[in-house]
Amino acid sequence: MAVSVLEAGSSTGLPVFADIEAARGRLDGIAHRTPVLTSRFADERTGGRLFFKCENLQRAGAFKFRGAYNAIAALPPEARRRGVMAYSSGNHAQAIALASRLLDVSATILMPIDSPAMKMAATRGYGAEVVTYDRYTEDRETLARDLAAERGLTLIPPYDHLEVIAGQGTAAAELIEATGPLDMLLVCLGGGGLLSGCALAAAAMSPGCQVIGVEPEAGDDGRQSLARGEIVTIPVPRSIADGALTTHLGQLTFPIVRELASDIVTVPDEALVEAMRFFAQRMKMVVEPTGSLAAAAAFSGAVACEGRRVGVIVSGGNVDLASYARFLAG
Ligand SMILES: *Cc1c(COP(=O)(O)O)cnc(C)c1O
Repeated sequence: MAVSVLEAGSSTGLPVFADIEAARGRLDGIAHRTPVLTSRFADERTGGRLFFKCENLQRAGAFKFRGAYNAIAALPPEARRRGVMAYSSGNHAQAIALASRLLDVSATILMPIDSPAMKMAATRGYGAEVVTYDRYTEDRETLARDLAAERGLTLIPPYDHLEVIAGQGTAAAELIEATGPLDMLLVCLGGGGLLSGCALAAAAMSPGCQVIGVEPEAGDDGRQSLARGEIVTIPVPRSIADGALTTHLGQLTFPIVRELASDIVTVPDEALVEAMRFFAQRMKMVVEPTGSLAAAAAFSGAVACEGRRVGVIVSGGNVDLASYARFLAG
């Protein structure tokens, strides 16, 4: 019988609640304490009481800033002097770039050469050096490892990292502090950094709260992994939820998700579009497709909210305007 991730303590190399508390200290006054909003429409529609934690309003437009800043701030001075590196075409890259600038650390970001020009410009705009690669012929993890070794940089992965997970968990910690105990917490799921961090926070602050991961229907590796009891790797999924197109959970995130998540559910892309329209029309918020996963689970009936107090993590708001307009117009 394996030791519980809650009781094993930090000797396992897995994050524990104390790491989330330390992250809160580092992020205090730096990350936005994003608002927790409610909607009568959402409550009537689902029969529950929904609390939306609006990380689309976080710095750089997504919760990723929490983990990125926490990971860099936790580095020893020597590593900070040498600089950090990340590989990502999305929110993690921008979060690392911004956090590095704030901490006066140099950042190198490995991005696919065909990334949207706007994303590359935004990453460079934060002062990061962008190194490009061909996503069809080159393996980014190998490239990143080689480049980091060559330049003495510390690689900060997007989810499978103790301080990244701890940083992401501060989103749920703030939410539960604002709402009091919850019956259920809905968290979108890519590589599981956000879900595992939030599950650790919920286990400590709202015991008994069911924590549920939400994946795009086309990329249900998390659900398969939970069912099989081991990390299942799938081909790169196709979904408009571009922040959740990961192919597998991590060595750190999986054991936490397996023990602390009650379930993992999936939603189709149509439900994401519907949730994005809800956010735009009723809540006056721009939310990206991936950021709508958790809300879509509540609205589509993938989870039952009746009579329950439900936390919904709205994870990000970075979507290019042309596709956003297409989603809304339908
Ligand atoms: C990265 C990301 C996710 C998925 O987070 P993981 O920690 O990889 O599970 C969800 N939503 C948005 C907006 C993201 O940027």
